[in-house]
Amino acid sequence: MLKVVKFGGTSLADAVQFAKVKSIVESDDTRKVVVVSAPGKRTPDDYKVTDLLYLCAAHLKYKVSSKDIFEMIRSRYKDIAIELKLSIDIDKEFDILWNQMQQGITENELASRGEYFSARLMADYLGYTFIDSINWVKFNFDGTINYETSYNALLQITEGNKVVIPGFYGVMPDGRVHTFTRGGSDVTGALAAAALKADVYENWTDVSGILMADPRIVKDPEPIRSVTYSELRELSYMGASVLHEEAVFPVREANILLNIRNTNEPSNIGTTILEKISEDTSNIHITGIAGRKGMTVISISKNSISAEPGALIKVLDILAKRNINVEYIPSGIDSISIVVSSERVEKCLYEMLGEIQKKIKPDKIAALEHIATIAVVSRKFSKIPHLQGMILDALGDQDIVIKLIVQGADGLNIIIGVDENVFEKSIQALYQRFLF
Ligand code: ASP
Repeated sequence: MLKVVKFGGTSLADAVQFAKVKSIVESDDTRKVVVVSAPGKRTPDDYKVTDLLYLCAAHLKYKVSSKDIFEMIRSRYKDIAIELKLSIDIDKEFDILWNQMQQGITENELASRGEYFSARLMADYLGYTFIDSINWVKFNFDGTINYETSYNALLQITEGNKVVIPGFYGVMPDGRVHTFTRGGSDVTGALAAAALKADVYENWTDVSGILMADPRIVKDPEPIRSVTYSELRELSYMGASVLHEEAVFPVREANILLNIRNTNEPSNIGTTILEKISEDTSNIHITGIAGRKGMTVISISKNSISAEPGALIKVLDILAKRNINVEYIPSGIDSISIVVSSERVEKCLYEMLGEIQKKIKPDKIAALEHIATIAVVSRKFSKIPHLQGMILDALGDQDIVIKLIVQGADGLNIIIGVDENVFEKSIQALYQRFLF
C-alpha cells in the first residue's frame, strides 16, 4: 500500500502547521511520498510566500530593490527552522539565492523557490530524502507534461524510499525551471501518485473536503463525502474551487483514489473521489450546487428554424470566427438560444448580432445579459424521479423566474439560468430543498 500525500500552503504556513503534517505522515506508515506547497497565509491578512516571490521578481524586473521582501521570505523559513530545531543551514541557502538574483534569475525559477525551501525543511524534519522536482517533472516546450519521461524518472529516483518532493515546478527540455499555473502543487502530487502507482492520493488542505455549495453563499454547507470524477468536473467547471484542473487527469487515468483532507482536522474522512460509486446509501440525492454569474443568452426566433438544415451551423460559425465558445444551446421549434460568457462576447456582441441578422434573417433576435447559470449536480437524476421537479419547486416557491433549463447529455447535471440578482437566493433555495 502506498499513499502519496500532498500538503497545501496553509498546511505549511508555520512551525505549528509543520508539526501537524509530521504527525499526519507518521500516523500512517503507507504515507511514504510527501509533496509540499510553499508556506501560505498564517492569518487572513498575511502573505503567501509565492506571492512575495512574484513580487520580488517584479522588483527585479524594474530594478527596484527587493531586499525587504526577500528578508520577509527568508524569515518565514528561518522561523520554522529555528522553532523545529532543524539542522539545515537555511540562511546560507538564502544568501546563495540572493546572489543568484543579482546575477539574473527567471520569474519561474524564483517562484519555484517557495516549494523548494518548503520541501528542504520538511525533508529534514521528517528525516525523509529530498527529491528536487527538476530531476523528474519534465515539461515539453509547449508547457505540457512529458508524462512517460517524468514517471520513469521519479520511479528510478525514489527507489521505494520515503521522500519529500517540492510541488509546482519542473524543468523544460533546455534545463530552465518551469512552473505550473498557480495552485500547481496539486498537479505535482497527482503526477507523483500516477508515477509511483499509488493506491491513494491524499490532498491535504484547510477544509474537510469539497463542500456541497459555496460557503460564501450557503452558511456551513455540508461536505461531499464521495463524488465521481465526472461530477467533480461539472462542479469545478461551474466554479466550485476544488483542485487544480490539471491534477485530475493523471490520477483519474491511473484509477487512483483521490481523498481531500483537512490538516487541521485529520480525524475527518474528507471527500473521496472515484471513477464510479457503486454502493450509494446516502439519502442526500444531490452531490453539489455550483454556479457562475456573467452569462449572456443570445436568443434567435424564427418560424420553423428547427426545420431549416444548417441554420445552427451558420450561427455557430459566426461565433467560432470570433473565437467564442458556446456553453449551452437550449432550443425549440421556432427558436435557438445560445449561452455564452459575457466577458468573451463583450467586444463583439453587437457585431455578431448584426451578422446573425444578415445571415439567418430571424423574426427576432435579442441578447439577454446579466444571467447566472447554476448547476445542480447529481449522479441520481436518471434513477430517482422528481429530482428535476424539486429544483423547479424550490425556485418557484421563492418566486424565482427561471430563464433557461438544460440537462446535460450525460444526465449528471441540470443547469438553470436565472437573473444575476437572484443568483445567491437561488442557490440557497436549492440547498435548503435538497438538504433539509
Ligand atoms: N505555491 C504555488 C501557489 O501559490 C503553488 C501551490 O501552492 O500549489 O500557487
